[in-house]
Amino acid sequence: MPGGGSLRHCRHGEFMPDAPSAATQPPKMQQDKQEDKKKRLKDTLNLPKTDFAMKANLPTREPERLAQWEAAGLYHQIRRARAGAPQYILHDGPPYANGAIHLGHALNKCIKDFVVKTKTMAGFDAPYVPGWDCHGLPIEIKVDEQLGGRKLELNPLEVRQACREYAQKYIDLQRTQFKRLGVLGRWDDPYSTMNFPYEARIAEAFFGFYEKGFVYKGLKPVYWCWHDHTALAEAEVEYEQHTSPSVYVRYKLTSPPEHIDPRLAGREVYTIIWTTTPWTLPASMAVAFNPEIEYTAAEASDGAVYIVASALLEEVQAALTAPDAAHLASEVWARTTVKNLSSESITFPGSKLDRVAFAHPFLDRSVLGVLADYVTTEQGTGAVHTAPAHGPDDFATGQKYELPLTCKVDPHGKLRSYDGLPFDGLFVFKANPVIVELLRERGALMGHNNLEHSYPHCWRCHKPLIFRATEQWFIGMDTPVLSPKEGKEQTTFRQRALDEIKRVAWDPSWGEERISNMVATRPDWTISRQRIWGVPIAVFLCNACHEPLNDSKINKSIVALFEKDGADAWYKHDVADLLPKNTSCANCGSKDFRKEMDILDVWFESGASWLAVLEQEPELKFPADMYTEGGDQHRGWFQSSLLNAVALRDCAPYRMTITSGWTLDEQGRAFSKSLGNGVDPVDIANRLGAEIVRLWVASVDFREDVAASENLMQRVSDNYRKLRNTLRFLLSNLSDFSPPQHALHFTQLQPLDQYILARTAELDAAIRRAYDEFEFHRAYQALNEFTNTDLSALYLDVIKDRLYTLAPDAPARRSAQTALWRIAEALTRLIAPILSFTADEVWQHLPALEGREPSVHLALFPDVADIVPGRVAGLEEDWAELLRIRELVNIELEALRANKAIGKGLDASVTLITTQGSDESLILRRYEDALPEFLNVSQVTVQSVAATKDAVAIIVRAEVAAGAKCERCWRVVPDVGTDNRWPAVCARCAEALDAIGFPPTQEAA
Ligand SMILES: [Zn+2]
Ligand SMILES: [Zn+2]
Ligand SMILES: [Zn+2]
Repeated sequence: MPGGGSLRHCRHGEFMPDAPSAATQPPKMQQDKQEDKKKRLKDTLNLPKTDFAMKANLPTREPERLAQWEAAGLYHQIRRARAGAPQYILHDGPPYANGAIHLGHALNKCIKDFVVKTKTMAGFDAPYVPGWDCHGLPIEIKVDEQLGGRKLELNPLEVRQACREYAQKYIDLQRTQFKRLGVLGRWDDPYSTMNFPYEARIAEAFFGFYEKGFVYKGLKPVYWCWHDHTALAEAEVEYEQHTSPSVYVRYKLTSPPEHIDPRLAGREVYTIIWTTTPWTLPASMAVAFNPEIEYTAAEASDGAVYIVASALLEEVQAALTAPDAAHLASEVWARTTVKNLSSESITFPGSKLDRVAFAHPFLDRSVLGVLADYVTTEQGTGAVHTAPAHGPDDFATGQKYELPLTCKVDPHGKLRSYDGLPFDGLFVFKANPVIVELLRERGALMGHNNLEHSYPHCWRCHKPLIFRATEQWFIGMDTPVLSPKEGKEQTTFRQRALDEIKRVAWDPSWGEERISNMVATRPDWTISRQRIWGVPIAVFLCNACHEPLNDSKINKSIVALFEKDGADAWYKHDVADLLPKNTSCANCGSKDFRKEMDILDVWFESGASWLAVLEQEPELKFPADMYTEGGDQHRGWFQSSLLNAVALRDCAPYRMTITSGWTLDEQGRAFSKSLGNGVDPVDIANRLGAEIVRLWVASVDFREDVAASENLMQRVSDNYRKLRNTLRFLLSNLSDFSPPQHALHFTQLQPLDQYILARTAELDAAIRRAYDEFEFHRAYQALNEFTNTDLSALYLDVIKDRLYTLAPDAPARRSAQTALWRIAEALTRLIAPILSFTADEVWQHLPALEGREPSVHLALFPDVADIVPGRVAGLEEDWAELLRIRELVNIELEALRANKAIGKGLDASVTLITTQGSDESLILRRYEDALPEFLNVSQVTVQSVAATKDAVAIIVRAEVAAGAKCERCWRVVPDVGTDNRWPAVCARCAEALDAIGFPPTQEAA
């Protein structure tokens, strides 16, 4: 790397920091004199010089630059500079305002920053308005924990205030951390879902659904604490050990068995279910089978036939014949075991059991055979008792098959309205043994045991939970809507969402199928939560008939109130303050109303951000050009945003989405405290620099899962150091270069300089293409390839001779400087979206130009016409050939070096022999003058010989160069001492010394 410690690329080793120190030099007087002469000659060289520091010192320098950007109002300067340009809107998905940022956040925000900055530098007006998701359970739980017992003494408004303060604290923390990473945006005025205007828009979105007839109230099973009489969310559930009864129960088939398999005609057929919650059996509405699994009809010695999953048959037999089961089992079971039917066993897929009928084991009604994918052969019997009121899977199946959702378990967990049955009025866990006994009496009990297992418990009172259907608010996915197509044909909300999915660009493309499948199969959207910290479902309910009020004028007044006072207003005011006098129920005429106190699902809130942000802000637009988040958002924000926008605007809120993978450690494991494998982006920024985090993000293919570790970050940091050194080398050779005065036109440049600029133009095209496709890792690879191969290993190495030894104003030197300047200008702009700090630092060290923007972030990507004005015919092809020849020469030089005949390439001369009139010959003749530099040797002779039958295209001869070594440029050439004013130097160096008026050293002659 140029400017670095490597001597291999460092002909003038004494300029480098690791050159021999004075202490190692012989202290004799005579040598002192010699050294002094050398030093004076050395002083005539054009040494690299720059204030751009070799040591990046990012942890200190970055915060200083951030402060400069902030003081200059850089983000707003960019907005003004791009005003009126075509817009590109990336809409920020709001992170949850809870905790410090982690690496996933850093990945997400850096990708967004890359998108915004690449679009800005491509000339778009690309504002970035960051936001936060603030309501919801995780914050409410944290606040509950902090408040402890005090919560019971607080009114809802005080709890909400505590939640608001908690969220604000983490907005402030995360904002500081995101800014530290160099993410540029409207941080002084972000959006947040708890801002009053945003809360008003959430209510407005809800009323939009409500007034259009999408919303209904219905029953749904939720985790229920019978002790605290409340629904609990998933996050409020803790798993603890619990002992449950484990029972096997037979259900008798009542539909014709020959419909399953003709060989079953006339047989008595049962299926066997397994459950650990006998108390749910009174609500058993169906038995679910997996359509893909194979089932066996097995015969017991009583002659009856039992249907269970083939894979579980042996296990079921073992469970049913267990010694402790025998004494409990029915008389039927006590004297029998299940065996395979005759010699040919009867098997069939579960799909054969769709809509068969069974008799309920103790109630006088039918139970339906249904199909469900979640039925597995991991445990049980492959036949799953289904009580839609008491389980989420059961509920989904119940919806699909339109099963009744009667829930006869009251809020205290007691079974109600089973008049005449022994378990009526019993608490569920007390009802269990009574129901088991009933099963035995009815001959339905096939096995009974106890099972100790992990079971959901209330996080607050630690009592075992139950699933219980409760009343919730839903958005109907199959609500009829009109399609916007010609003729306005009738379709459904679900179908409209599916249509809009097709109009969006999904990247990676599998995202389309993923979200389509989710939308196609999802149940109705449960939008209510029984919590406090959120935006209420601001509906009035009639106290007489319980019907909700739906009056758009009243709804608008609530939105206006929220706009002014926030959603707190719902908790602050009584019904009488909120409703106009004489409001009456459209259903029954009553004037007595109550407020609904459920709040909205937080996904509904963030899903309304296009309405609350994109449509409200004059600098933004709807729909956005891009949403980009993690792959889990097909289920989350992408979907809730899509549903909200399709329902309210009949169109998707984005033109494109890009999803990123998970951040994992090098072994592909998730980060966890116990593994201690975490990588904290803020810690990396503070120790190594935010640039390292940013460069890491650019280095990974973020569409896949990405690996991170301390080790990988250190490697990125090494790469950064190399890149910084390259940039520093460019700057250090431009200290005496003023473009208006010294830059040469492309046609006046040396051929090698033309070539490197052509390569720079190619790099520009490659990086711009990668940016256009948001393939940042390809930009990173192209950049590395260019700086390592084209610059460090070739160009920057060989041009040092020209840069250092020619007279400052020599055209060949200005030619090299022109190329370096163009490369530096281009690279700085091209890397700015990723290495935002370093590019801006380089920017300030580039040769001054009138009218230059104060920050690179205000500038545009390079204009390729500045680098290469049009295509130069044959240039690329010629240099491809020359590079090939260079490889051949290097092999010969290596051989000489191995023999210790030469040290450096400059000790050698090379003869290239080609066939007269061949392509090689023509090319070598054309570039003859540039060859010694390009091949990094002192002399090159090109010879052509007449074509012979078996001549090879090119013969390379390398030998020790004849002549003397010039003390100034170290070339071994025949013309050393030809100018007797400076007998120790070559003719070319003498010319340079003459040009700078260096005094003759003839006393040494
Ligand atoms: Zn509880
Ligand atoms: Zn009413
Ligand atoms: Zn020389």
